[in-house]
Amino acid sequence: NDPLVAAVHRIITHADDQRRLKVRTNADTGLDAARARRFGAQGIGLCRTEHMFLGDRRELVERLILARSEAERNEALAALQPLQRADFLDIFREMNGLPVTIRLIDPPLHEFLPSLEELAVKVAVAHEHGQSVEHDEQLLAAVRRMHEQNPMLGLRGVRLGLVIPGLFAMQVRAIAEAAVALAAEGGKPRPEIMVPLVGAVQELETVRAEAEKIIDAIVGDSGVEVLIGTMIEVPRAALTAGQIAEAAEFFSFGTNDLTQMAWGFSRDDVEGAFFWRYLELGIFGISPFESIDADGVGRLVRIATEEGRAARPGLKLGVCGEHGGDPDSVHFFHEVGLDYVSCSPFRVPIARIEAGRAAVASTAAGSDHR
Ligand code: PEP
Ligand code: MG
Repeated sequence: NDPLVAAVHRIITHADDQRRLKVRTNADTGLDAARARRFGAQGIGLCRTEHMFLGDRRELVERLILARSEAERNEALAALQPLQRADFLDIFREMNGLPVTIRLIDPPLHEFLPSLEELAVKVAVAHEHGQSVEHDEQLLAAVRRMHEQNPMLGLRGVRLGLVIPGLFAMQVRAIAEAAVALAAEGGKPRPEIMVPLVGAVQELETVRAEAEKIIDAIVGDSGVEVLIGTMIEVPRAALTAGQIAEAAEFFSFGTNDLTQMAWGFSRDDVEGAFFWRYLELGIFGISPFESIDADGVGRLVRIATEEGRAARPGLKLGVCGEHGGDPDSVHFFHEVGLDYVSCSPFRVPIARIEAGRAAVASTAAGSDHR
């Protein structure tokens, strides 16, 4: 009965009546999905599956990545598959009837490997004490082989799926099985499988060919439809969007990585190092990781939108980087003509209001071209 809450509710409802952009959420758990739905999210735009592999399951992923034989790898995959199936079923249930974009695993590798330094020290100390550490030595050699100077530009995203046999297949199977299970209960799952870090259509085609076989074998006549699409977060993907659209039913702009790679700024280090100087010089008034850099990164979004839609009319387009919940960026995405923005659960109401404001502003200016 709070009059203030009622007033906010009226504003948001009014914005909903005006807006063209849909508002989805970024969520990795059923709990977050349920919360976001209460805030009015119209689906999930990004489920980061690598978050599902932390905690107790981290060790299974480490075993998978470092497996020395097919049998070891298959054992790790067989342990992960039912866990993933349960994760996805939980999320599909909470988002019943709404689209759920599940991104195949995209961790920087070092997050799932043991620390090279710690392992090297352990082996050296054991040697000093004359202990036999054959297992740790082998592990150290394997971790050395996989060590990367720059993991954010290394074996991540689709690259991981292309070099670790069975990894993406395990996730695709879990997604399809969870969707069929919900459909059997009378629910309406709407899964969308998203491939991360694609820069060339061939990467997507390879993943797609394997995924389609798995999906076809599982969904049968259950009525479940699974879309397959890609993140656009590598500049080359934006510049070859016409080719990539041939193999994608949707694009979702990963503006965090797109900003990192377009500017050549490290997402993780930049703010402390030199941003203050850029702000001082007025190169930007606010971090381009917070608010879309319309001239540079935004131009890549525009190119990919136009070329993607020209190649595949009806291509679904959204954004799932941090910018999806930033007010100025929401106006930009409306103007470019995306179909939805996706943001953290708590930013959903703000995105709904801003999407409404953007629609009103462009109608008033006579510039709404869609
Ligand atoms: C992105 O890069 O914008 C994105 C959404 O993916 P992540 O932040 O997980 O790299
Ligand atoms: Mg990314």
